[in-house]
Parts: sequence; structure tokens; C-alpha cells
Amino acid sequence: ASGYSLLRNPHYNKGLAFSEKERDSHYLRGLLPPVVFNHELQVKKLMNNLRQYDVPLQRYMAMMDLQERNERLFYKLLMENVEELLPVVYTPTVGEACQKYGSIFRRPQGLFISLKEKGKILEVLKNWPEKKIQVIVVTDGERILGLGDLGCQGMGIPVGKLSLYTALGGIRPSSCLPVTIDVGTNNEKLLKDEFYIGLRQRRARGQEYAELLDEFMSAVKQTYGEKVLIQFEDFANHNAFDLLAKYGTSHLVFNDDIQGTASVVLAGIMAALNLVGGNLAQHKFLFLGAGEAGTGIAELIALEMSKQTGAPLEETRKRTWMVDSKGLIVRSRMESLQHFKRPWAHDHEPVKELVNAVKLIKPTVLIGSSGTGKTFTKEVVQAMATFNKKPVIFALSNPTSQSECTAEEAYTWSEGRAIFASGSPFAPVEYKGKVFVSGQGNNAYIFPGLGLGLIISGAIRVHDDMLLAASEALAAEVSQENLEKGLIYPPFANIRKISAHIAAKVAAKAYELGLATRLPQPENLVTYAESCMYSPSYRSYR
Ligand code: NAP
Ligand code: MN
Repeated sequence: ASGYSLLRNPHYNKGLAFSEKERDSHYLRGLLPPVVFNHELQVKKLMNNLRQYDVPLQRYMAMMDLQERNERLFYKLLMENVEELLPVVYTPTVGEACQKYGSIFRRPQGLFISLKEKGKILEVLKNWPEKKIQVIVVTDGERILGLGDLGCQGMGIPVGKLSLYTALGGIRPSSCLPVTIDVGTNNEKLLKDEFYIGLRQRRARGQEYAELLDEFMSAVKQTYGEKVLIQFEDFANHNAFDLLAKYGTSHLVFNDDIQGTASVVLAGIMAALNLVGGNLAQHKFLFLGAGEAGTGIAELIALEMSKQTGAPLEETRKRTWMVDSKGLIVRSRMESLQHFKRPWAHDHEPVKELVNAVKLIKPTVLIGSSGTGKTFTKEVVQAMATFNKKPVIFALSNPTSQSECTAEEAYTWSEGRAIFASGSPFAPVEYKGKVFVSGQGNNAYIFPGLGLGLIISGAIRVHDDMLLAASEALAAEVSQENLEKGLIYPPFANIRKISAHIAAKVAAKAYELGLATRLPQPENLVTYAESCMYSPSYRSYR
């Protein structure tokens, strides 16, 4: 290949890091300025550039440009600056990027499969340049973060999630496939926008929708085999639960909004028990928000309780109560409840307001997963603090503006007694001379390691016990020193090591359950996981 095309291929390009010898042997002389930079200096230079942009979206665009120019540099930058760059390549900035996707997009990323491709999905998959795919992240764009229906512009989400699979979980970039399924959008603004990039029609539902999804799922299995991991991302809850149930028995599928969230929050609760005491089954949970996140978390908690105590799920579910937009979920509402809410309808008189539910139920753990901000009011937090020495409070809703309360509010209103974690990050808070560091229950702690564990074991199904194993592995990474600051999640800086440990535990579970196909089982799964992880170091070309 000519030097010119080498510089334009993001998989091979090294930019100024091409050595003198490489410049000679690969026809690069004159195509680059005389200086030779090493990888480290390139990272330093790029971080300097990025930090000069004040607008987060500019940083996002600079990162996307880099990904298309020099892939290894993109990943090295991301890995070495995770804490700073995670909010750029993923939430909250990726949300803004999706909203403006039509106007910022230069070259298409990922694979677009719309109703126009019906009957031709196998051929469409053949157009993708890579043949060995291990992870697919797919969205239909209907519930992008907390931003609602963004139709075809949801593509930013699979692209962003997969770059985290690589940076945090070490999955090779060439094995990752981002997919957006376009069945239309019900977003009026987009339908009227002359620059909208998707199908200009209202969403297909029912049979038409099911058929397209079915064709996609079959085509994927036929093309990439049964060990390809398909992660459903940001589907609306009226499809998400059904798709997971439908394909869970025939494909290696995982829904991060339901299962990933559940695993990461359970890990935080396990870590918090070190501070508040008691077994899981001795605690009582109240959720605000009974959708994908809320009911997913609740179910995994009930499952873990059941494992620990031997009590049946029908019993352990009774430790959890839920409030949705209509108030406390109680038995008298059963008829009108969506099926995923029904297990949480217990005997109780109707209660409309959260604060009254808190006072009547007296939970030890309060979890916000409603997508609606400022709902953990002073009265709610104070109520939690009257009957709990250390109230555990999760404000999971994203982005920051939707958080149920801020870290500062949680600590101040509980007089410094709350154990607090949130979905969006908050800076440390000083209260009466003590500094409190709150944890971020970010799904990025779990899914990259979980995916790696599935891949290295050759798993063919995702089992709930693997989610529990991942939670335990993550909780075990929280040090005494972290806990002393009130922190129930480990720092992100060690995420590659954490992912390897999660992967090892998940893989071990896959072997134990007979769901692993990579035989024989490697002796040391942590070492094996680490050895499989992608490294962004440059290769030398001779
Ligand atoms: P979802 O499936 O749409 O569910 C939202 C639930 O909240 C529904 O049950 C809804 O009630 C309820 N709700 C909405 N407004 C409410 C209000 N004012 N009062 C009481 N209940 C209300 O959404 P989801 O996927 O579960 O996501 C919910 C939120 O969690 C989002 O903000 C998301 O960003 C966040 N999240 C965070 C993490 C994380 O931090 N790791 C992970 C996943 C999700 P109805 O059913 O009655 O409409
Ligand atoms: Mn999501």
C-alpha cells in the first residue's frame, strides 16, 4: 500500500509516530513533517488540545475525529484518561451529540438497518468490512438516555458503548459492531427537520417491528455464530423486556439498561452493607421509578436474597416496594399494571406521594430510577434519616439535571449520615469539616468486564448468576479506604484491572453452569482475561 493510504487508514495510521525507518520503507517521506513523536507525546499533545475546548460537544467531536484518524491513539488516550474522558465519549455528552447527530456527523459510523433493508439484512451484514464480530450493541433509538426518542440519531449510543467495551474491557475494536435499527421515529421535531438522517415516518409497531427484529437476530447468528454477544441498548421499556425474554433462550443477549444497571447497583448495595451492617435480606427497599432500571435492580436484589437465605423469590420480592408516576404500586392496581410491575404489587392501601410512602414503608435503602429530577426532597431525605442511622440513597437518574437530589443535598439533609451514590457524577462535598466522596453507579463498571468474561469463556447464554458474580466481583474491589470516605464504588482509574476480575468471575460462572464452550477451562482466569485484552500500543511495520 502507498504511504498516502497508510496515513488515511485509522487502523494502521500512527501519524507523527512513524519512525524514520518506517517512513523510508513505507513511502512516507515528505508526507509527514520531519519530527518523530512517540506515543506518549502524542497523548500529551492531544490532551492539551482537548482541554482547550470549553464546550463538551467540541471535545466529543475531536475524539470522534481522532477515532477515525488514528484508532490506537484514540484508545490509548481514553484508557489513560478514563475519568476525564468517559463523560465526553459517553453520558452526558454523547446525549447532546445524538440530539445534534444530523449536523455533526461527517462519516457514518456503524451499521444502519432500516425498514428499507427488510428481507436483505444478511446482505447488509456482508457490507461491513470486518468478519469476526464478538460484540454487537444495537439500539432502535426510542429511549436514548433520559432524552427520549431520537430515532436514527441514536447511533451515537452503540458507537460510544462499544468504544468503552474496548477501552475498559479490552475487546478488540475490529470485533465490535454498532447497529441502529431504524423503524421510524415519533419525535415530531425530527420528522419536521429537513436534515434528519433517518426514515421520515412514525414508528412501526407490532408485527412489522417484530419481523424486522427477528430477521436481524437470525441474520446475526447466521453470520457471526452463536457466541456473538448482542447487547440491547436504549430500547423503550414496552419492547426491552419482551425482546430480552424472547431472545434470551436462543441468543447470547444482554440488556444493559435492565441487567447492567441491576448488577452495578447491587454491587453498590453490597459495598454499602459494610458501612450500614446487616444482611441483604434484613434490608427494605423503596424505588421511585418502576421501569427498566428500577424493576431490573429490584429483581436482582430479590434473586440474591433468595440465594443467601433459601427463601423463594415470591417471598424476597416482598422486601421491595415501588412507586411509579401513579403512586405506590399496590395490589389493588394489579389489573392496570404493565406485566413487569406486577411482581411488586403488594398488599397496602393506595399511597400517592413518595414522602408518604417513605414514612409508611420505612425503607433502609431508597433508590431513584424515575428519570425525574429533584424528587428526593428535603422532607424525603429527612424522613429517611429519622428511622435510619445511615440511610442508603441512590439517585440514579441521568443526566445531572434529572438527578433525584444532589450529593450535597443528601449529605446536608441527612446531617452527614447518608450513604449516597448517583448515576451522574458529583464533586466531593464538605459538610461540617468532613469531606464526603459519593460514588457513581456507572454501568461502565460492569458491562465491559461482563462482556470480556462471556467472550473468553465462549459463553452461549447470559445467566442471572453471572450478573450476581459480576456484582460480587465489583463490590470486592471497594477498599476500606474508599469506604471510609463514604465511597461505595472503586475509583475508575483501575477499571482495566477491575474488568479483568469481573471477567474472571463471570467466566468461572459460565463454566460452572455448563454454558462455556472454550475448553479446557484456563487455569487462572484473571491472568487469562488480562492476556486477552486489547492493547493500543503501536505495532512496528517492517
Ligand atoms: P423507564 O423504563 O422509562 O422507567 C421510568 C419509570 O419512572 C417509570 O416507572 C415511570 O412511571 C417512573 N416515573 C417517571 N416520572 C415519575 C415521577 N415523577 N414520579 C414517579 N415515578 C415516575 O426508564 P429507565 O430505563 O428505567 O430509566 C430511568 C432513569 O434511570 C433514567 O433517568 C436513566 O438515565 C436512569 N438510569 C441510570 C443508570 C445508572 O446510573 N447506572 C442506569 C440506567 C438508568 P410510569 O411507569 O408510571 O410511567
Ligand atoms: Mn442505556
